[in-house]
Amino acid sequence: MPEIAALDVEPAFMTRIRESGQGLECTEIRGDAGSAPDQYLKDDTCAVLVGPTLADPLPLLISLGSRDRDMPVLVLRRGDDLRELKTRLRFAPGIGRQVRIWDEAEFEDAIPMIHAFAMRKTTQEALSRGLAAAAARPEPGKPEYQLDEVLNNAPIGIAVLNTRAEIMAINKSSESLLGWSRRGVKDRKLAERFGPQQRELINDMVSRCLAGDAIAGPHQFELRHVVRREPMLIQMSVGRIGEFGGVSGCAVYLDDVTDLVQAQGDLESARMRLEEKVAARTRAMSLIKERLEQRGEELERSNDELKRAKAELEQMTVRDGLTNLYNRRYLDLRLPEECRRMQRMKSPIAVLMIDVDHFKSYNDALGHMEGDICLSHVADIISAACRRSGEFAARYGGEEFCVILPGSGVDDALGIANRIVEQFAEYGLPHPTQEHVTVSIGVEVATGPEVPAAAELLRRADRALYSSKTAGRNRATLYTAG
Ligand code: GH3
Ligand code: MG
Ligand code: MG
Repeated sequence: MPEIAALDVEPAFMTRIRESGQGLECTEIRGDAGSAPDQYLKDDTCAVLVGPTLADPLPLLISLGSRDRDMPVLVLRRGDDLRELKTRLRFAPGIGRQVRIWDEAEFEDAIPMIHAFAMRKTTQEALSRGLAAAAARPEPGKPEYQLDEVLNNAPIGIAVLNTRAEIMAINKSSESLLGWSRRGVKDRKLAERFGPQQRELINDMVSRCLAGDAIAGPHQFELRHVVRREPMLIQMSVGRIGEFGGVSGCAVYLDDVTDLVQAQGDLESARMRLEEKVAARTRAMSLIKERLEQRGEELERSNDELKRAKAELEQMTVRDGLTNLYNRRYLDLRLPEECRRMQRMKSPIAVLMIDVDHFKSYNDALGHMEGDICLSHVADIISAACRRSGEFAARYGGEEFCVILPGSGVDDALGIANRIVEQFAEYGLPHPTQEHVTVSIGVEVATGPEVPAAAELLRRADRALYSSKTAGRNRATLYTAG
């Protein structure tokens, strides 16, 4: 009978352990013997129970732990003692595994634990004895005997059926899978153990093998565990048994694939979740890409608008608001450039300075607004004179205009100036005090190897204009020095 060494345990506790019906014996040990376990630990001592009155059980636990690592020890303590001992044990590595500390007040509940501890030790010892005996046994002579052992202990269930599909034998794994004992299984049909919908397929698999097929399956069937009542998934294959073409029965192989299928299911749902995440991310990415493209197009549009606005602005800074001819600012920048360019090309350059005659009286008679309209017509007539590339007209200021003719010599320049004067006669813009609106023009042409500075050209053209005015207006005069 397994024995418990009870150290400083109240006699009433020991009686209760003996009478618990668990088949345990208790030996009383006094506290002063506690520090020398060798004195009371015998071969059949399966556990040590330490009572609550032992002042400090830790030295004993350490001593037991170092002596016999598999000796279960149950300590009864109360209140603060219990908590303190638990804390101290945490710092005594190696012995905590086999020690259980129990509240003395709940001693009754501890009895099954004491029993379980005691039985653990007894079973372990029996197993070790069995293994030692098996190791010492000589090799079995018959190989068939070994095969029986292997089949019986195989990790999958095996059932052997006769030609009438009745069970002849099952191995250990089949017992636990089917919940049938080996003795009570004889002549039963395997399909009985399964639900009505599954029986037909199982019978069909068996019949096919009995009819001569080498193997049928595998197929999966649901089975409820006989004790735990949990559903299991059993994978079943049936193989023919027979010699020389004859059939003497079949073997059914049963494998519990519940965890495997569950794991596959988990894996599959994890894969699907992953796929969903990838798809969601891809959708988000394409949305972002789409938005970026839209943004890019918007940016491109606003960039074009900006370019247009910039060009307009540039035009506004070089154009005269009333006549839309180039303004004075442009003339001041462009004329020196043209002078330098013509000098490099050794070409002449002509400047026409044009002034509207009697314009003050026009304004006085018709008003400033009418004067403005008249000036824009004047500008149109003057700018029409610029036909070749590089030629341009500008509003010099007030009712005065300039025409720049790069590459024009004296004849050309005078020809163009006279043509302008004629154009005014042809158009005949009405004038309140004159026959029609006329202009006076001063012409300066730089022909020599040295082109004078732009300001000088303008000054000379202005001098020639003055000559036109004094000579009676409505004409063009070439500048002459002196
Ligand atoms: P002339 O040149 O023939 O000697 O006589 P004029 O009457 O044209 O000469 P003046 O320089 O005395 O007058 C120029 C007039 O031009 C004065 C001014 O009112 C007018 N004027 C200058 N700029 C503008 C303008 O932008 N709009 C209008 N309506 N009139 C302007
Ligand atoms: Mg003037
Ligand atoms: Mg004038």
